Amino acid sequence: MTYASLTDYTRADVEKQKIMARLLLESSRIHERKMEMSIKADRVCDSIQPEPENYLEDSCDESYVLSKPVLNEISLPAKFCPKCGRKYGDDENFCLECAVKLRAIKDVDISEMELNPHFEFRGENCFHEFDEILTGGNLEKIAVENFDVEDIAAKIRKIAFRRLDTAIKDSGIYLDSLSVADKILLFAKAFVDVENKSYGPELGYYKFNRIYIDDRQSDALKITTTLHELTHFLIKEIMTHVLCSIWNCTKTHKIESVAAFILSYSPITGLVDEYAAHTVEGRFTLYGFQDYSSFLSLEKTIDLDKTEIEMLKTIGNTFANIIKDILESFIDADMLDEIKGQFTKDILDRPDYTNLVYENCKLLNDEGLIEAVRLLLSEGFAVAMDNAEKLESYDEMW
Ligand SMILES: [Zn+2]
Ligand SMILES: [Zn+2]
Repeated sequence: MTYASLTDYTRADVEKQKIMARLLLESSRIHERKMEMSIKADRVCDSIQPEPENYLEDSCDESYVLSKPVLNEISLPAKFCPKCGRKYGDDENFCLECAVKLRAIKDVDISEMELNPHFEFRGENCFHEFDEILTGGNLEKIAVENFDVEDIAAKIRKIAFRRLDTAIKDSGIYLDSLSVADKILLFAKAFVDVENKSYGPELGYYKFNRIYIDDRQSDALKITTTLHELTHFLIKEIMTHVLCSIWNCTKTHKIESVAAFILSYSPITGLVDEYAAHTVEGRFTLYGFQDYSSFLSLEKTIDLDKTEIEMLKTIGNTFANIIKDILESFIDADMLDEIKGQFTKDILDRPDYTNLVYENCKLLNDEGLIEAVRLLLSEGFAVAMDNAEKLESYDEMW
């Protein structure tokens, strides 16, 4: 099996194709209008004519795909029922429906909250040393044992939602009163630890079950950076569970180290990982503000033909689709509008659609995804077998 031979398992990502087609059409309309205006401006030299620049400014507004959300001014309740979640005013004391005392809605600092996220996997085997993991037998199992990526993703999502629900109830948070950036931060914390940083050039990064977000950036960028880094975490977590499922073993930091190694040892797996993170981030960003830097620089370093590089992006796009489902179970249409509203508030640039040509609009079917994961894992695991020292150093980082 090669990356190019996975082509037989692909189908069109129709939803993404539609979005891209619409955006490209809009961007060409804007371009046409710009051309028309510059021709008019050439012909008409007197100053009485409307300023072409102003016209362009206005016409560009149409390029925002979603309109700005209408914010409803609702007065916030002061108390809530810990049992049914109903909200009450300050003068109420009990939820008579549930016959319990109401609790005050607290002003909680989300960045200070710790949800202690972890996702267990119990198997019949338990490997204590890398010697027991890095075996020819385990390499062979990657090629033959069954696993279900969607099922793994669904389990992770369920555990995170339970954790989120408990955290909200225990700390007396009223979700609707949080800023959209805080809602996303809280959601991310149900999966992985998130820390603020105020140094370095990166907007954020993910390392060993911890996301670092630069708190000097705008809320809009904090949101997309968090979703990008959360995707990196989720791919590592899914791959770890796939390995545990293949080897029928209990999850440990050593297995996580193998997964982290496989996802980072080569620009090939790096591209899949980055393309997925870019795509997920992009789906929750106002179109025209997507950041392509994360995978474009990697792409240049890969010595594969175009078909194979496109296939790596297709694998990334397929992972992104699975992760997008997890995120959309929290980020509904209203919250997406809030995010887009945050963008129009924070970002002053005009949208830029020129990079849309880099988008891959294909998906692998279930069988193709399994073959792709087998290929990524077996290639990476073969290299991991010669890198026990590196894995030992990873093992100390969790
Ligand atoms: Zn109640
Ligand atoms: Zn990234």
